[in-house]
Amino acid sequence: MRITTITNWAYGITVVLTVLSAVAFILSARSATQERQAVEQHLLLSSMGEELALGAEETTDEARLYVMRGETRHLDAFTVDEGEERRRDAAINKLRGLGIPDGELLIVEEAVGDAEALDKIEEAAVATYRGGNQASARDMLFGPEHERLQTALLNDVSQFRSLATARTEAAVHSAQARSNFWGNAAKIMLALTAVIFLGVLYFILRRRVALPLVQMTGVVNRLARQDYAVELPTERRRDEIGEMNDAIQIFRENGLERNRLDAERKRDLQTKDLILQMMHRLQACYAQNELTEVVALFVPQIFPGIAGCLYTMNESKSALIEVSRWLDPIHTQPSFPATACWGLRRGRPHVSHVADNDIACQHLDESGVPGLCVPLTALGEAIGLLYFEDRTKDATAVDAPQLYLELIAENIGLAIANLQLRDKLVNLAVRDALTGLFNRRSLDETLNNLHRDQSARTVVCMMIDIDHFKRFNDEFGHDAGDEVLRHVAQIVSDTVGDVGTVYRFGGEELTVIATDIADERGFDIAEKLRTSVFTTPFSYRGRIVGPLSISVGVASSPVSGPTTTLINRADGALLQAKLSGRNKTVAAFAMAAEGELKRG
Ligand code: GH3
Ligand code: MG
Ligand code: MG
Repeated sequence: MRITTITNWAYGITVVLTVLSAVAFILSARSATQERQAVEQHLLLSSMGEELALGAEETTDEARLYVMRGETRHLDAFTVDEGEERRRDAAINKLRGLGIPDGELLIVEEAVGDAEALDKIEEAAVATYRGGNQASARDMLFGPEHERLQTALLNDVSQFRSLATARTEAAVHSAQARSNFWGNAAKIMLALTAVIFLGVLYFILRRRVALPLVQMTGVVNRLARQDYAVELPTERRRDEIGEMNDAIQIFRENGLERNRLDAERKRDLQTKDLILQMMHRLQACYAQNELTEVVALFVPQIFPGIAGCLYTMNESKSALIEVSRWLDPIHTQPSFPATACWGLRRGRPHVSHVADNDIACQHLDESGVPGLCVPLTALGEAIGLLYFEDRTKDATAVDAPQLYLELIAENIGLAIANLQLRDKLVNLAVRDALTGLFNRRSLDETLNNLHRDQSARTVVCMMIDIDHFKRFNDEFGHDAGDEVLRHVAQIVSDTVGDVGTVYRFGGEELTVIATDIADERGFDIAEKLRTSVFTTPFSYRGRIVGPLSISVGVASSPVSGPTTTLINRADGALLQAKLSGRNKTVAAFAMAAEGELKRG
């Protein structure tokens, strides 16, 4: 019930009870007055009866004394007492005025009649006495008639007094009872008023207003400090306090919603900032290994708790190879055919969600864990794939914002495409188109770097020239010559392996630069090259052509000379190999040692 309704009711009841208790008090006072009047009437009637009896007695006494003694003072007193008659009439009228019951009035009238009859006898006796007949007068005053009338008078007075006493006592008791009743009723109603007042004071003001208000003040203060974890009273009230509670609840919910939106916006800004940072770093990558490092570092920050990996398409565009991973995804394979992914097939993000009745990619295991594949495309061509899967219960890859996924996929795709394009361009700039070996410009750069290098590391240079190459051209045509060049370049590359780098110096001449190896090892490799070329058969258009041979000049730095003369010294050794009959390996350092020996 509403507090205003309760207070209105309490106010109304209090007013009614106050009015009723006032009325009861008035009635009680009136009953007390009636009681007093009854008592007064009782006293009045008693005294009147008394007076009537006493008056008659006094008159009789005076008449008797006169008759007995003949003293005139008794006659005077008797005559004076005759005024008694008038007093009696007045008393009867007064009794009538008091409204006493007829029965009592009748008795009084009888008593008065008796008194009057006595008066007549006594007057007659006095007259008789004055006429000189004392004996007759005495007989009249002391005779049986006088006796009877006197007794009757006393009886009537006594009866009247007892009737009046009984009646007035009953009236007093009734007035007393009424007075007590109304007095008690007034007290009870006053007590009720007090109880209601105290009840309202305690239950409404203290329990239903003061205490909830104190509680509410605490809540509002905490809400004002943006502490939305504050617990609101759970009691459902249907009054003003309840309405205030509801309003505070709405205020708290709005605050929570605002906080949630703030946190969301903050997270959104953070995500955008991370994506921007990743984009800047992707654009600055020189190589794919840098790119994969950047992706593995930033993507788990952008989508926390979501594992994933980055695949790139192989050169033949038939398979995807994993190049980077984060948070250890376990439901996908490290490499798989391009056809095994629905994302790649459809050219759009695909959620493999068996529980959602969508088809799962074949590169995923049977676990049924939802996986998200986002194809990477550049210039309309698929070049890789981003794969995500849930590793924590809080994070859901499939719920990641589509916009961000597309933005990230587009940027990683473009970065990969840029790197691939850059690699192609670099290859075009540093590689020889015919043999695939590094070109002369690349060799010059390597040599320049070696010149600049102050670490005094050992460098071995091999100059290789195909013997009588011109003959192949002349005999079989330039295409055959080209084929010979490719054949020799392949053998040299395979033989040198990781030990050094092979360059096409120009025409049919190749150069090998190997660092951090001893002169002897360099010479051995040169010899191995020579024998490999000589012993490996070469066929052109189904015909064995050959045998092929090469001459090799070997030089080294820094012990035998500076890197600036490395090529010249190797070239000198090569010339020596040609001069000594071709299909030879000559080391410049060996020539120098020989010269030293000869000079010695
Ligand atoms: P030598 O044993 O003294 O080295 O004799 P050679 O015939 O190998 O040497 P020479 O310098 O006389 O001839 C080299 C020839 O290589 C001349 C040139 O036409 C040919 N040549 C240079 N570059 C190419 C090329 O890219 N393709 C083809 N087919 N021939 C080339
Ligand atoms: Mg040559
Ligand atoms: Mg040659």
